[in-house]
Amino acid sequence: MNNLEKASRLIDEENNYYARSARINYYDLVINHAHGATLIDVDGNEYIDLLASASAINVGHTNERVVKAISRQAQKLIHYTPAYFHHVPGIELSKRLAELAPGNSPKMVSFGNSGSDANDAIIKFSRAYTSRQYIVSYMGSYHGSNYGSQSLSGTSLNMTRKIGPMLPGVVHVPYPDLYRRYAGETEHDVAIRYFNAFKAPFESFLPADETACVLVEPIQGDGGIVKAPEEYMQLVYKFCHDNGILFAVDEVNQGLGRTGKMWGIQQYKDIEPDLMSVGKSLASGMPLSAVVGKKDIMQSLDAPAHIFTTSGNPVCAAASLATLNVIRDDHLVEKSAKDGEYAKQRFLEMQRHHPIIGDVRMWGLNGGIELVKDPKTKEAENDAATKVIYYAFAHGVVIITLAGNILRFQPPLVISHKQLDKALQVLDDAFTAVEQNKVEVPKDTGKIGW
Ligand code: PMP
Repeated sequence: MNNLEKASRLIDEENNYYARSARINYYDLVINHAHGATLIDVDGNEYIDLLASASAINVGHTNERVVKAISRQAQKLIHYTPAYFHHVPGIELSKRLAELAPGNSPKMVSFGNSGSDANDAIIKFSRAYTSRQYIVSYMGSYHGSNYGSQSLSGTSLNMTRKIGPMLPGVVHVPYPDLYRRYAGETEHDVAIRYFNAFKAPFESFLPADETACVLVEPIQGDGGIVKAPEEYMQLVYKFCHDNGILFAVDEVNQGLGRTGKMWGIQQYKDIEPDLMSVGKSLASGMPLSAVVGKKDIMQSLDAPAHIFTTSGNPVCAAASLATLNVIRDDHLVEKSAKDGEYAKQRFLEMQRHHPIIGDVRMWGLNGGIELVKDPKTKEAENDAATKVIYYAFAHGVVIITLAGNILRFQPPLVISHKQLDKALQVLDDAFTAVEQNKVEVPKDTGKIGW
């Protein structure tokens, strides 16, 4: 068991000052330093990181090349507001991202500080370009915490009562759920049923010719690592095209190699989004985001429509260029695909002898392991998930849940094979210990995770 002496004292103190609005419940972990996929806390305990700072550290903590780029740039120029003057890292990064975006149409880039503001930008650019007001997004989605992006998010709909009214003109449709499909349904049936649900608002109250864009996560991240069927995504893409509606993707969580492809949307065939938002791992956790879109769309707004004092900050841009180089040079996209397949097979093997594992979803080093009370009823098993997380924490593995019962498996893509094996073994042991009723979580733990 970990010694948590200093951590517990610090957290008790923090509870007096740090507002709850920004803290998701977890056990007492105060990180002191980190490298690769390893976290070390203030008491000297070591953990394997399966959370990758919520998918923001694809190239590993304190990656040497990223640290060097940050320090070199910080010595030259830390900040100049992009509103007035240009700087080299910002220029280079805009070109690099425009070239990296999926599809062949010329692209342009607008920078921000967070995934949230990049999704706000999607609202702005799509409304400005189309002169239409409505936006369609998904139940179960997470797009951020600004009013715009929070209004788009399906996961924060329950916030409306406390902080509403939210942004008007957003319509949420259900995201396909292959796991909880009706008995006897094929993947094709699910695709059609959800496409009909997608079209339903357009057939009643939502005028297609007043709809600016559809924003979708290629794989829902905070919603539980859920991927739509290929056929469904193609139908929505075509519907957008046929109706002059922009097709926008949120790559904040799933982009940059996470899914075993450079971009999450490349999990589907030949889709070129009109707009996409990127953040999190873009600058390895330094505050930087971008919206990347087709050139004519990105030219539909003039300053100061989307500008922040520190957006595209040179130190963050330098960190981002280094991050993109590491992803390319260390073949992290391919590594993510290969290691993800290995982890998937191990989880499927665990599923054979642990009935609490209802579903294993994994694309790249990007998994949702859904725990259920009974594989037939698929009723969510939140208590067991809390115990698995505690067991893992006590045995040096950091993992959290999504939706209460889904283990979120998103290690840094640089995780070594040895660490991956160790983490998988700890989780296997955790399932056994929980099934044998051998895990006691500390009192007053409350709900752990998202
Ligand atoms: N979009 C997605 C898909 C996300 O997962 C997140 C963060 N969880 C965001 C947007 C918001 O990003 P940020 O927290 O940087 O504002």
